[in-house]
Amino acid sequence: MEMRKEQCPWCGGEDLTRYKQAGYGQVFPEKSILRLGGKTLIHVICRRCGTVVRSYVEDPDTLK
Ligand SMILES: [Zn+2]
Repeated sequence: MEMRKEQCPWCGGEDLTRYKQAGYGQVFPEKSILRLGGKTLIHVICRRCGTVVRSYVEDPDTLK
């Protein structure tokens, strides 16, 4: 997989950091009643302006 250069589309900054959104902030399959299969979200955030450049789940190959 080709890694794209990470850059903030808002301010052009390249000083990005990653934050995990875990616990109650997890995302779940829409049809999951028992809230199984929760995924931790990773946010890539620009340290210059605070824009969330990208949000993704840790292991997309396990998505339903
Ligand atoms: Zn920025």
